[in-house]
Amino acid sequence: MAAFPTVQDLAAAKTDAVMALWKGLGYYSRARNLHKTAQIIAEERAGQLPQNAADWATLPGIGPYTAAAISSICFDEAVPVVDGNVQRVVSRLFDIEDAVDRKKGKAAVETACLALIDARDPGKSNQAWMELGALVCAPRSPRCSECPVAEGCLARQRGTVSDRPVKQPKKAPQAVDVVFAVHLQTGAEGAQQWWVERRPESGIWSQLEAFPCTMDMRPKGAEKAPDTASESPERFGPVAHILTHRKMTAWFEVVASPAPPCDGGRWVDVKEGTANWPRLIDKVLPALRDWIGKK
Ligand code: SF4
Repeated sequence: MAAFPTVQDLAAAKTDAVMALWKGLGYYSRARNLHKTAQIIAEERAGQLPQNAADWATLPGIGPYTAAAISSICFDEAVPVVDGNVQRVVSRLFDIEDAVDRKKGKAAVETACLALIDARDPGKSNQAWMELGALVCAPRSPRCSECPVAEGCLARQRGTVSDRPVKQPKKAPQAVDVVFAVHLQTGAEGAQQWWVERRPESGIWSQLEAFPCTMDMRPKGAEKAPDTASESPERFGPVAHILTHRKMTAWFEVVASPAPPCDGGRWVDVKEGTANWPRLIDKVLPALRDWIGKK
């Protein structure tokens, strides 16, 4: 909000500036979509914001949850906002037996939410249900004795509170081995430089800058990294890095290559770095620079 106080300011911003501010928050597609949405509103809609959830949902990155939150809180539309807290409260209130992250269970939660919303003040009503889930109907040890809707709670009556909500089992994060290729050269003014490339528009670390890399999904059940990726004088690592669905193990390998390995990148002074590293690289930069300095 400080950097881009209006939709027009965000729309006019450079992608790099937006991505730099988002760095470390993950889900970089959110920053890209926020930027695109600002541009659509500023340039194609003359700065006019959509007034209902259906229209909000046509914009990049705005799904049903965000669309409902904006339109009920800002424009008084009677659409339910279903977040994890609301899902939990409703699945307990109505003792929903179906998994709430599958089609049938989701539909049951949505139907229940529609019945619960107070059309006189939908924004407040939605926030009240979310708050009830966050503060009273907690995942473990819900405070049922203080709950304002305890009397009508089916799960409480049937003794199934700790079994609700039902969810399908979570997948284990995918183990991924990443090897970054660090190409070095001495620049015109004698400074050591490394080669960085902009990542593609989609996929991991999209539009950030990084060393070229290879990524290998580790077979299921393989606990250890492959032998070829073990520590050696030529490799810096391993660096462990956890993303939402991936458990990464990374190495950095100096590659003797005087010329840029492909288009779409640039030489950057090792001491300066770039503004848009992925967090994985950002967190090891000082140690990586030291390691390279000793080579
Ligand atoms: S009575 Fe207990 S389980 Fe039921 S909605 Fe209230 S806090 Fe949740």
